[in-house]
Amino acid sequence: MPRPLTALVHTAAMRHNLQTARRAAPGSKAWAVVKANAYGHSLRAALTAFADADGLALIEVDGAVRLRELGWQGRILLLEGFFDPSDLSVLAQYEIETAVHSAEQLAMLESVPLVRPLHTHLKMNSGMNRLGFMPAQFRAAYERLRAIPGVASVTLMTHFANADDAHHGQLAPAEQMRRFAAGAQGIDAPVSVSNSAGTLLHAGFNDSWIRPGIMLYGDTPGGRTAEQFGLLPAMTLRSALIGVQQIDLGEAVGYGSRYVASCRTRVGVVACGYADGYPRHAPDGTPVLVDGVRTALVGRVSMDMIMVDLTPVPGAGVGSNVVLWGEGLPIDEVANAAGTIGYELMCAVAPRVHMEIA
Ligand SMILES: *Cc1c(COP(=O)(O)O)cnc(C)c1O
Repeated sequence: MPRPLTALVHTAAMRHNLQTARRAAPGSKAWAVVKANAYGHSLRAALTAFADADGLALIEVDGAVRLRELGWQGRILLLEGFFDPSDLSVLAQYEIETAVHSAEQLAMLESVPLVRPLHTHLKMNSGMNRLGFMPAQFRAAYERLRAIPGVASVTLMTHFANADDAHHGQLAPAEQMRRFAAGAQGIDAPVSVSNSAGTLLHAGFNDSWIRPGIMLYGDTPGGRTAEQFGLLPAMTLRSALIGVQQIDLGEAVGYGSRYVASCRTRVGVVACGYADGYPRHAPDGTPVLVDGVRTALVGRVSMDMIMVDLTPVPGAGVGSNVVLWGEGLPIDEVANAAGTIGYELMCAVAPRVHMEIA
């Protein structure tokens, strides 16, 4: 029998979450963002769930090729664009669209003849100061891109630093929109600005295209809980108890003896550790479900196991069901406890974890 650790991927939930994104932005087309192996859910699951997306967007050139090989015939967008002139023949061969965020990319496009029409997405740095042209340089970049033979279209894009916080003191989303509008003034082209938080919280951005990612996988982009946004968890990471210990008061659990029992305690051992993607820095008290009952991590996370307090589930024993996150336990709660975000947990699920696509 295989180790009882499975990432169960719920494609019906992913489909529902895409519909939720569409309802929040009824006038927009939707790129379903599937970077990082669909945030850990697999490109295969994404293709099933997002069959009616207007396009799939990702970062990885080989992932884009894989989408074609798996049969996706719709649009594909590379959100960071290409990395080397040699990528351009791959883009042509597989009909992949590209972001253009730097003068270096423009120069590559000017120096390599485009053998097929290329759809491009010109990125502005509207304040995140990561990728993109400054607002003052944007118009010139647009003219240069338009002048390249073979460039079939240009969409204008930017990305929010704080779409989950309308009143952010340093850089509010409205301020980024102001800079974007100023830099793009007079350019008549489709616009793409909203990630999940933008989509759910700022319908007024009037994107031609939205770019939801995290919400498709049922985690909140911030601002409210996933449940409040009407999102359904797309992954249940489940396992089982493979051991039980009855320990006395004063006995400690696991490496470093971090957790010391304050009374006689039954401790369950779960087949899931940091080599599976469970966060090693999760503290005592991080929520875990055993037989549907909420209990808590005790002791340091090991490579292959965690331990949990069985006090609230006296009937539990070897073989009892465990949910690390997903149905019944929002990934966000686990992430919060461990000082991270659901994005990181999903993306970190390790290749050795058996994946079941439902
Ligand atoms: C990852 C990404 C998104 C999706 O962001 P979420 O917060 O996951 O919705 C959108 N746009 C770009 C450019 C991205 O890199």
